[in-house]
Amino acid sequence: MTMTKARSYAAQSAASLLAPLAIDRREPGATDVEIEILFCGVCHSDLHTARNEWHNTVYPCVPGHEIVGRVTRVGDRVTKYKVGDLTAVGCMVDSCRTCAHCQAGLEQYCLAFPTFTYNGNDRFLGGPTFGGYSTSIVVDEAFVLRVPAGLDLAATAPLLCAGITTYSPLRHWKVGPNQKVGIVGLGGLGHMAVKFARTFGAHVVLFTTSPGKVADGLRLGAHEVVISKDADAMSRHANSFDFILDAVSAQHDLNAYLNLVKLDGTLTLVGAPEHPLPVSAFNVILPRRNFAGSAIGGIAETQEMLDFCAQHQIVSDIELIPIQKINEAWDRMLKQDVKYRFVIDMASLKAG
Ligand code: NAP
Ligand code: ZN
Ligand code: ZN
Repeated sequence: MTMTKARSYAAQSAASLLAPLAIDRREPGATDVEIEILFCGVCHSDLHTARNEWHNTVYPCVPGHEIVGRVTRVGDRVTKYKVGDLTAVGCMVDSCRTCAHCQAGLEQYCLAFPTFTYNGNDRFLGGPTFGGYSTSIVVDEAFVLRVPAGLDLAATAPLLCAGITTYSPLRHWKVGPNQKVGIVGLGGLGHMAVKFARTFGAHVVLFTTSPGKVADGLRLGAHEVVISKDADAMSRHANSFDFILDAVSAQHDLNAYLNLVKLDGTLTLVGAPEHPLPVSAFNVILPRRNFAGSAIGGIAETQEMLDFCAQHQIVSDIELIPIQKINEAWDRMLKQDVKYRFVIDMASLKAG
């Protein structure tokens, strides 16, 4: 198979910093789109994966699954995109497309396992798939999204993971008017969840461990902000939530949030910390609470989310960085010091 070279930043081991690496991209096949990457968001999953916190990483690891870019070449059977189009790629680049879940537009739950954008099995080149911390990517058109007109491109990139991962469960559990909804953790996912839940018409309560984020929480759309370390403030919300979305990246006490869910209400986990989170049986038994999880969203729903964002002028609040600052950005992400998503300006990689 013929290949082209791309520049990237990669981790060579769980302990190594990200550093430049030349990688191969396949020549676009008949249904492939080649995309010059303009911006890539920085998700906490990038860090979990590069540092092997989920114990399944294949090296070298090129992270990045919040990709926005411009089409540079298309295969001869591509119908949806042409050279010059503004496109996006999220967390998946393929799936089996035939199982019941794929047929239902739930490719993220493909029974044969979706091909993730990075650290997936590259079925063309072998080895791991390489993600968006790179200058280009080649993806089958079925897994490419269209960037609607009128959105800031850099601030759109985080919608491809942080956006869809929060939009999808809020839609699935039908969050809307006359509902009290909690969002736990004001990071990349959490800040998008606050914006969506507010736009969907719910009463939104943000839970944060960071007193310095209260004003931002209100500005982003929360009606109330609770400092989760304040036990009295927490207990005032006992048994009152229809729905809570937990977007925390590290160890924390789930039981403190289960206690706030009302009868038949739901706590849904999207955060994926390295270690198991204990749940006390009585916190789900009484009073009959639901404890659930959710992964990203399907391709059609991701396009729906992008179009919804264009219609409502919703994007991420970002800090644009050159790729040479990525290791520093990851350190700050671990210190909960992100306002509220780092996005890499890929021009820095082409120049550097
Ligand atoms: P992030 O930007 O780093 O935000 C995480 C937030 O969690 C922090 O801003 C902080 O909020 C809170 N937090 C961090 N450490 C904490 C601790 N020790 N105790 C309590 N709260 C803490 O991360 P992200 O990119 O939004 O990702 C969040 C999680 O979702 C990650 O585990 C990621 O892998 C996962 N994820 C899952 C999916 C999925 O499909 N389910 C998709 C994408 C990401 P405060 O400062 O407000 O407390
Ligand atoms: Zn992500
Ligand atoms: Zn499938």
